[in-house]
Amino acid sequence: MDLLDRHAHFHPQTDPKVLERDGPIVFERGNGVTVTDSSGRSYIEGMASLWCAALGFTNPRLAQTAHDQMLTLASYHTFNRRANPPAIELAEKLLSIAPMSDGKVSFCNSGSEAVDTMIKLSWLYQSARGRSRKRKIISRHNAYHGSTVMGATLSGLPHVRGAMAVEDNDVVIFAAAPYHYRQAQKDETPETFAARMLSELDALIQREGPENIAAMIVEPVMGAGGVIIPPEGYYRNVEALLRRHDILLLSDEVICGFGRTGHWFGCQTFGFRPDMMSVAKGLSSGYQPIGATLMSREIYQAVSEEAGRLGVFGHGFTYAGHPVTSAVALETLRIYDEIDLIGRVRSLSKAFLAHLHSFSDHALIGETRGIGMIGALELVADKVSRAPFPPSRRVGARLIELAMERGIILRNLGDVIAICPPLVIEEAEIAALFSRLSDALADLQ
Ligand code: PLP
Repeated sequence: MDLLDRHAHFHPQTDPKVLERDGPIVFERGNGVTVTDSSGRSYIEGMASLWCAALGFTNPRLAQTAHDQMLTLASYHTFNRRANPPAIELAEKLLSIAPMSDGKVSFCNSGSEAVDTMIKLSWLYQSARGRSRKRKIISRHNAYHGSTVMGATLSGLPHVRGAMAVEDNDVVIFAAAPYHYRQAQKDETPETFAARMLSELDALIQREGPENIAAMIVEPVMGAGGVIIPPEGYYRNVEALLRRHDILLLSDEVICGFGRTGHWFGCQTFGFRPDMMSVAKGLSSGYQPIGATLMSREIYQAVSEEAGRLGVFGHGFTYAGHPVTSAVALETLRIYDEIDLIGRVRSLSKAFLAHLHSFSDHALIGETRGIGMIGALELVADKVSRAPFPPSRRVGARLIELAMERGIILRNLGDVIAICPPLVIEEAEIAALFSRLSDALADLQ
């Protein structure tokens, strides 16, 4: 296995030299919230794979649903008016939980595609309203919006952009991330910091010209950029500012969607109303590759007229609304209802956040931050000055290795340690996860 993988497999988000040297970590089995590697060692998956396996790794109902749908209609497309029962029901179900119940759903296969679809729809919408100069998209430093060319171009993370984003473009412009711990000036409270963020955003909009800006895209909690939770009121004020300037607000809910922050969607937790949302990951608990873009009624009406003029809506993916992925996602949402997912997250969150914040006194932890069932610890060289470790020390990466030796899987985003377990995790498993993390931290010192 090991040699074969090194021979043929080019891994995403992997240093090829490290893979050549150390080989792959092969996972063979799951069981509830744990996964087992090829050496037989089991781990509590504290990241739900990549922020997605809300129902853990071996839900039998989802397996049965995929099996049954495979034997009913295993593959079909949704171009040119084609539909299938699971895709139809899934679109209905999504709208029933979304804050745009009279809108529409466009399916795709991943978060990146859902984001790309939102951007294209923003342009089409502005063009349909006779505002075709509105092309620019505001993103933020630290943002992660996927790995397609547009996703990378919207990204505020250097390693995602590399030579792979469209640089020097006249489309994507960047605002600051609402990252109080790292970006606040001396003596700025979360409130005064949020006020400054807002006036800087306003200045950016004025500088670029609101008549040139189509939309702003936000992750309610910025995930891959460091689990950044905005100060109270930030999004409500951003929304009001954008509305004043006739700029769309796009919520990238790929991580925050489906209960992660204690509401169905992150925008509901933070009290703002987006014009469109991108979802993926938790939509099928990661069991099938599926994503979706949800759009408001107003967007739908404008783009459908524009598409009518063109004769067709010229965007779509072969596997959009695929019967098997749709059936599995639909069953996932039914299970979320049955287990009262939102109530469960709110109640589990108390223990989760208490464990998380118990690390705030630790000498190596500068800040603990969390909401719902997502959290992070930020490692620092000096707690008082907040000085980070030099990147060459790779402290976050080392802690993740030590954590694996202790039987837990977490993810380091530089020196920020992200924790985002399956939402079916039990309190005893949360306690075990943090106890092992504590041991790993002791090993680091
Ligand atoms: N948007 C956000 C906020 C994400 O976190 C991710 C992936 O982590 C994406 C988009 C891209 O999703 P995918 O990897 O399914 O393309």
